[in-house]
Amino acid sequence: MSSETVAFPGEQIASIEEYEAGANTFDDGDMVRAATMGEKIMDKATRIASIVHPRVFSIPNRDDVIIGTVVAVMSSMIAVSIDYINGKPTTSKVECICSTRNIRRKNVALAGDVVALKILNHINGTIHGSMSSPELGVIFTKCRKCGGSVVPLRDVIKCTECSWIDERKLSNRLNNKDFINGTE
Ligand SMILES: [Zn+2]
Repeated sequence: MSSETVAFPGEQIASIEEYEAGANTFDDGDMVRAATMGEKIMDKATRIASIVHPRVFSIPNRDDVIIGTVVAVMSSMIAVSIDYINGKPTTSKVECICSTRNIRRKNVALAGDVVALKILNHINGTIHGSMSSPELGVIFTKCRKCGGSVVPLRDVIKCTECSWIDERKLSNRLNNKDFINGTE
């Protein structure tokens, strides 16, 4: 597994003329797109494109860096379903929470965003993470108004479709897939 074979949610992975939509993908009438983050599998024989997560069960430890998908946004915290631990995929679907109380942004992260967190501790069975350093925070997000792609503009983001300007607690690695390291 490498950064080139990983797709973010909604990413175009093939044209529908070349491939059919398989597991964890959907067809938007023009392109096959990833429905979740994971590894692209392009089966040339069957012409089916799918997204898979290798079956690895693991739980993060203190100081591990996780990549996960925001599943809930509450007033002072977010809940994140963990997809990668130190660059290695996990299917354990363990969740962690991250306090957002001290982050001054209109939207720290939205449900469906991909974030990088550092694990702080486990308290009473709950895993706590932090996004308080420059490489941590949102690494993939979409426009809140139209679902379009966004680009960073100093410390805000701008939609490439409708020009909506918004805020997130951005990682300095926005839209970067280099968090994937090595192979299992
Ligand atoms: Zn937009």
